[in-house]
Amino acid sequence: MPERLKIALINPESPADVYYFPTGLCYISSYLKKYSEVNPDIAIYNIDSSNRDKVVEFEPDIIGITCFTHSYSDALELSEYYRSIVNDALLILGGCHISVIPESLGGEFDYAVIGEGEQTMLEIVSLVASGKSDEIAKIDGVAYRSNGKVVINKPRAIIEDLDEIPFPERDSVEEAESIIRTDHPGWFGALGLRYMQLTTSRGCPYRCIFCQPSVMWGKYRMNSPEYIAAEIEYIYNKFGINAILIEDDLFTGSKSRVARLIELLEDKKLLGRIRYYIAGRTSQIDSDWADMLGRMGVCKVEFGIESGSDPIAAYLKTGKTSTEINKRAVTLLNSRGIGVFGSFIAGAPPETMNDLNETFKMIHWIRKSSPLNTCGIGIATPLPGTGLWEYAVKRNLIDTNNFDWRKLSTLKKFPESEADMVYLNEHIPADRMLKEIKKLQFRLKLGSPREFIKALPRRLKKLTRRIFKIHK
Ligand code: SF4
Repeated sequence: MPERLKIALINPESPADVYYFPTGLCYISSYLKKYSEVNPDIAIYNIDSSNRDKVVEFEPDIIGITCFTHSYSDALELSEYYRSIVNDALLILGGCHISVIPESLGGEFDYAVIGEGEQTMLEIVSLVASGKSDEIAKIDGVAYRSNGKVVINKPRAIIEDLDEIPFPERDSVEEAESIIRTDHPGWFGALGLRYMQLTTSRGCPYRCIFCQPSVMWGKYRMNSPEYIAAEIEYIYNKFGINAILIEDDLFTGSKSRVARLIELLEDKKLLGRIRYYIAGRTSQIDSDWADMLGRMGVCKVEFGIESGSDPIAAYLKTGKTSTEINKRAVTLLNSRGIGVFGSFIAGAPPETMNDLNETFKMIHWIRKSSPLNTCGIGIATPLPGTGLWEYAVKRNLIDTNNFDWRKLSTLKKFPESEADMVYLNEHIPADRMLKEIKKLQFRLKLGSPREFIKALPRRLKKLTRRIFKIHK
């Protein structure tokens, strides 16, 4: 064992597609650096098949790979690759997918870290450093394979006070500067803003039938306003950013927290210097919230509206939801100059063509309400750990022994055909559903004639880059 333990933390994605810091890995890194007695050397990578040897050159003692469900197949392939090259490194899997379905553990992984990874990784690092790797099988929060079966240990208690975790260690990310660049696709890129991600809470008090992160994180917890203001000040000064994407599943969990945060940002003279993108619930938004978010500098709020049909929205979501509530929230925010991103899901099991048309109507209503508003729509996807997963397993739509996890992508490619997904709807044929959504997406992409003309220079620039393969 070298004097300084080397740890490679990997996010299995294509660097060409990734414009985000792997925040979860950055938290693991900062936690280990603060609390580990062995002072590990840590590097974080966004990895695909073209750059995976970077990790080999680092000569790690531990390789930790995180993944979502859609990237689980990539994580399995990476584990096989690294096992064949750096045979003696400990291979550990973590992240959302394996936390909610540890029994799917495969590949060449020695262990899986289940749930929140900081404390479990700290214990693993300490055991490896003291030559007691065999004892990892006894600790809480891990799973491993033994005699062809997956053994799942007792879950580890969650970290109640998130302020105990230091700010995520973004400096360990190899491509840090290229991630912060301003020419990203998407909304911040369109505004030419230099942005950074920020997390201020874990989990969500709701349990919508399709939502995997709320299952993974368990109890909803929030950082204090003092912690958040200090982190904003730090990244503003360190990285020279002018926009922040708050990654929380639900930022609007507490009014008093945001009110205090605004006071602190004002004290630090940061109010008005940074624009924010957040996610909220329409049922929470009242005039006070709209005023506060405007004052904070929020310029876009993402709402999981899911459906324009009230019965389908009620099927998909927990808590209060209705078209009336959704429209009121959109109007309140738009009246303060705040845009809305409406996120929708098509293809829930009971959805009919009438329901789908209601969704399309709602999308058009949002788009027409303000030029600041945008919308996106995806296919109902049965992610492990969710109610939709149970629905799919009960109906034998999924055989976990022989399954292509890439079919469960909510973040990557939109399905081309029924073969690319697990289709759940009981009333509309899959090919018709895909055709209708593609038509809608095309119209959304083009926008109104005014939006189309405004976006022309950016589109031409993008096309030129693609043709000449220019990368900054
Ligand atoms: S409100 Fe959003 S984050 Fe919370 S459970 Fe529903 S979909 Fe998930």
